[in-house]
Amino acid sequence: MNQDIKNNEIETYIENKEYIANMYVMKCFSVTMLVFIVAFLLNLGGIFTIEQKLMWKPFVISMLIYIILYITTRFVSLSNEKMKYFIMFCSILVFTITGIFITYHVILISLLPFLYATLYSSKPMMRFVYCLNVISTVIIVYGGYYYGLCDANMLMLTSGRVQEYVLNDQLIQMGVNPNPVFSLMLFFIIPRCLIYVAFMTVCRSIFNIVSGSVEKARLTTELEKAREKEEKANRAKSEFLAKFSHEIRTPINTVLGMNEMILRESNEKEIHEYASDVKEASLLLLNMLNDILDSTKVEAGRMEIINVNYEIKSLLNDLYHMTDIRAKEKGLNLIFDIDPSLPSGFLGDDKRVKQVLLNLLTNAIKYTKEGTVTLKVSGTKEGEKAFLNYSVADTGIGIKEEDIGRIYDAYFRFDVEINREIEGTGLGMNIVQQLLNLLGSELQIKSEYGKGSEFSFVIEQKIINEEPVGSSWKKSSDSKERKDYHTPFVSPNVKILVVDDYDMNLKVFKNLLKQTKIQVFSAESGKECLEQLKLQSFDMIFLDHMMPGLDGIETFRLMQENQLCEEIPVIMLTANTNVGERDRYIREGFTDFLSKPILQDKLDKMILKYLPTKCMETQKAEEMSVSVMSGEMLIQQLEKALLEIDFAAGIEICTGDKDFYLEILHDFTHLSIKQELERYLLEGDDKNYCIKIHGFKNSAYSVGAKKLGDLAYELEKGSKDRFSEEIGELQSELFKQYDRICMQYKLLT
Ligand code: ADP
Repeated sequence: MNQDIKNNEIETYIENKEYIANMYVMKCFSVTMLVFIVAFLLNLGGIFTIEQKLMWKPFVISMLIYIILYITTRFVSLSNEKMKYFIMFCSILVFTITGIFITYHVILISLLPFLYATLYSSKPMMRFVYCLNVISTVIIVYGGYYYGLCDANMLMLTSGRVQEYVLNDQLIQMGVNPNPVFSLMLFFIIPRCLIYVAFMTVCRSIFNIVSGSVEKARLTTELEKAREKEEKANRAKSEFLAKFSHEIRTPINTVLGMNEMILRESNEKEIHEYASDVKEASLLLLNMLNDILDSTKVEAGRMEIINVNYEIKSLLNDLYHMTDIRAKEKGLNLIFDIDPSLPSGFLGDDKRVKQVLLNLLTNAIKYTKEGTVTLKVSGTKEGEKAFLNYSVADTGIGIKEEDIGRIYDAYFRFDVEINREIEGTGLGMNIVQQLLNLLGSELQIKSEYGKGSEFSFVIEQKIINEEPVGSSWKKSSDSKERKDYHTPFVSPNVKILVVDDYDMNLKVFKNLLKQTKIQVFSAESGKECLEQLKLQSFDMIFLDHMMPGLDGIETFRLMQENQLCEEIPVIMLTANTNVGERDRYIREGFTDFLSKPILQDKLDKMILKYLPTKCMETQKAEEMSVSVMSGEMLIQQLEKALLEIDFAAGIEICTGDKDFYLEILHDFTHLSIKQELERYLLEGDDKNYCIKIHGFKNSAYSVGAKKLGDLAYELEKGSKDRFSEEIGELQSELFKQYDRICMQYKLLT
């Protein structure tokens, strides 16, 4: 769309410039025309005054010739170059032949520019002006010729004597010369002079036409230059965006990574909530950034379609997980209506299809207050191919009919006032449209304002696995396992070197691998990395791209030159996600590429992919799950005995990490709080009492002991600014409940 706008602008630019050039030529012709007309009228006056009958013959003939010429030029398509040149050729021939027989052939030949302009001009008004010029000139010349004025004029010019001229036979015969000097001046000398002036102007016009072509050539170069400039600006924009994306992604990476640590390690409910909000906001920011980047990538034609074999159920599963929480939060019913007979494996760009669907689903959820959002997938088979029919329908705010056409405009949002609360960049649909174009498809939109919308498209994919998809994708989407993070391996023997100039990134990286017990070494520059590699060997290296001094690629080249990384997987770690970058890194010899912000899943997978045996050697994932299972069994037992504890809530606070939950539950049941609280109460130390009970309250909430937490909260309130009266009673109730929990816990463990 933007490309179109650009082309239109350029076309308008050319048109304007051509118009200006034409106007310039036209001005010259207009002056010529005025001069000619005056000369013509005077000449005509002379002819009429002298002898009318001689006038009609040349007048009618010349009029006829030029009317025919005018009509021909009017109807001959100007784009028909051959015809144009044929007419030009014929005209030159006619004029040259005529010119041989008449004295004023020079002037006649000089009419050619007019003819050229008549044929060339695309403006009817200008053609008319040019034609008028031609007609008037011809009349003057023919009139003069027939009347013998040429001879008279030549005579006058050669002998220069008025008397001789006055005595010219022809004039005497007419007997219409009361004042020969005046008549001569008015009817012959002035028109002749004017014709010479006009002739000069015609010459100038020839020059103008020639320079008009020069001007056109100049304009073309100017245009090319402008285009080049625009391309340069575009390149600069892309470079800026790549840099900008890197600069922003790097701190977001830290925010997300550090926040993940808070989520995992903090057992305070409030902190957990804050961290969840930070996570949500960071992901939103990241999404917006990705939108902007994607849109510019598509615009610059740098979005690639990479066809791979994929399983449709994992695509659906991912989509479900990405949208389900949001829909639930808004109280919407999210339905995935998938035709179970669909083949399960295809060849295509699943990432782009997912991106399109994610955009449509997110919009549907965003713009729906209540009701249902449905993703429907069906398909038809044709030999090896399948036509997959995707549709996303919602019962949301809908779109006005007149707005549907503008939905793809970048950065454009409807009802901005009403939708002020709904975040967005106005780029989503633009990206959807462009991605579908790349995928060879088109979006169909049906919408009723106030009732809902339906967005659908069909894509053709090659079938790889005929086996019907069934409803198996649902199983994985129903399970909540995804939320729980368990490291898939524990490998204290593995040594990894991570190189990044940003200290925070190193911290995040180390923390993400904390549970794996991998030995993570770090270097803050390319130089430091080389030094470390000389001292010891590593199993895997993660290298950041943009670093001051030696950047990632330069460091890598030096590593290769010095044979420091032979047979060691070297992964490029970068925030630069531009398409084509991946290939560039692989061409450089990097083993793989991991984009920032680093996601736990991807990092684990990357390590497992390149160090499968080494990771499994130490402690297998199955062993881990056994320990998880045993933890799970303990939780089940405790759940039966400790009814006052909401285990699910506690586990959720620990981001699903059951082992971690058990750890904090253990700590909670071994607190030495009783003696201290009793002492503070006895001493009347309300300040310390308040601090102590505040900490206890948070711990109680963290393990899911809500009732106990509430009780502690009452005590906290009661100990602020002197102890309240019922503090003793509340405290003994708290001790009673806490003792019961501790006793039960100790009995079972
Ligand atoms: P945004 O980031 O604003 O959501 P999009 O390009 O995704 O930008 O969408 C452009 C506009 O189209 C939105 O601002 C919204 O007004 C409208 N729109 C998109 N999807 C829907 C939908 N499912 N229901 C109603 N309006 C929609």
